[in-house]
Amino acid sequence: MTVESRQSIVWEYAPAPEATDHLRLAERYGLFIDGAFCEPAEPRYEPTINPAKEEPIAEIAWAGPRDVERAIEVARAAQPRWAALPARERGKYLFRIARLIQERSRELAVCETLDGGKPLRESRDVDIPLAAAHFFHYAGWADKLRYGVNAREVAPLGVVGQIVPWNFPLLMAAWKLAPALACGNTAILKPAETTPLTALLLAEICQEAELPDGVVSILPGDGAVGAALVRSPGLDKIAFTGSTAVGRDIQTALAGRGVELTLELGGKSANIVFEDAALDQAVEGIVNGIFFNQGHVCCAGSRLLIQESVMDEVIAKLWARMGRLRIGDPLDKNTDVGAINSAEQLERIETLVAAGEEEGAVRRSVSCDLPERGYWFAPTLFTDVSPAHRIAVEEIFGPVVSVLSFRTQAEAIEKANNSKYGLAAGIWTDKGAKAFEVANALRAGVVWQNTYNHFDPTAAFGGYKESGFGREGGPAGLRPYLRVVR
Ligand code: NDP
Repeated sequence: MTVESRQSIVWEYAPAPEATDHLRLAERYGLFIDGAFCEPAEPRYEPTINPAKEEPIAEIAWAGPRDVERAIEVARAAQPRWAALPARERGKYLFRIARLIQERSRELAVCETLDGGKPLRESRDVDIPLAAAHFFHYAGWADKLRYGVNAREVAPLGVVGQIVPWNFPLLMAAWKLAPALACGNTAILKPAETTPLTALLLAEICQEAELPDGVVSILPGDGAVGAALVRSPGLDKIAFTGSTAVGRDIQTALAGRGVELTLELGGKSANIVFEDAALDQAVEGIVNGIFFNQGHVCCAGSRLLIQESVMDEVIAKLWARMGRLRIGDPLDKNTDVGAINSAEQLERIETLVAAGEEEGAVRRSVSCDLPERGYWFAPTLFTDVSPAHRIAVEEIFGPVVSVLSFRTQAEAIEKANNSKYGLAAGIWTDKGAKAFEVANALRAGVVWQNTYNHFDPTAAFGGYKESGFGREGGPAGLRPYLRVVR
């Protein structure tokens, strides 16, 4: 086992913590059903924890099977009225929600950072603006649905259940709710156990927007709530983002029931650096690809493929750049890498990193002063990785990148495609023709050229193989929420 660590550079920045006093959180949140917050049928409240401090933030109601049943009944009753509204009226509600997200963006950003541990810079500049942008985008589609599906006549599916993970809580809720509502469906959203808060603020926003009762219900709780939702009769579709294991379980549970399904699952995406790339730019892309949101990103560039001729140079630049990352208080506006989302996720990362060391890869971790409380993992780089190592195969979902080398374009393509996943990829090259050739040969839903983790509501996102099926974003994101009538 070889482990190299190095002290991160100590930058003399004054702390720049974001204020939290503008955030108006309740001590307790109920379930959101039929346009109102309510008690669960069997009272159960659990704290949601700030992972940077291991301190509770608020008490959250957990839904039980009877609440799931009630939410479905309410959504079923509301659906025909919602679908019968003139499409432009539905669009107006989505515009209102988008505007309210913008108005409350500072509050939502702080809340997302407190609840999930991500740096404020990311929740403020990425998560919240993109969530608003998704509502704006699909608001515009509401009265143009047929143009999104080859001018066919379409109808909504009905009632949809939507289960989202903890890595981009509000953004994933927006990815799911905005197209579903634009198409005339009603929705029941199950946020992740560790990050329910912004979904509950979104419930308040639905109230402020005067969204008709029952069009959106929000049912926090653990995996059992998601499992109950999936198994309940009365749903027309399930949309899920999360782990491949749970995705597989959902697909099995729905088999033969005539319920539509889209799955956006894990990934082990290749970020490919060719020798003709602008290497400093590529290093920034590698850092953004794997350390953005602590690597809790389904499309993270967690397999870094570097052409052998520039391997030493890229690793030297990357390792130097990693030493300049600022790790710590997610609410500090200078922080680059925040807290790991939960103790369970930290344990998963540590287990896989230990496996990497045991299997003989060379580990380099930035050593830096980490806060005493909270869940933290220093940015880590593995070299001398073989394609069979667990760290080259399994999704780590943390700030850990595994480096592999290649000599030729054909080898790069073969190695990049050598994965059970197929969610995303990055290509770094100065040659446009090469980028197109490689992109066409990659089995990945999204391929970025000379950039990484670049999201846009107008672009489709989704995977191949065990990364799932169905697309979210852009006109392609309408199709999974519509039935073609003619
Ligand atoms: P899960 O797949 O367990 O969680 C995703 C969502 O599904 C959460 O809302 C979760 O609820 C819910 N859920 C859990 N079990 C079930 C079930 N049986 N039926 C229906 N819904 C269910 O991801 P984890 O949070 O456990 O993370 C585990 C691993 O999954 C990570 O280490 C990472 O590798 C991967 N992952 C991938 C994501 C992606 O975007 N591709 C996102 C998140 C995780 P609850 O939170 O209450 O458990």
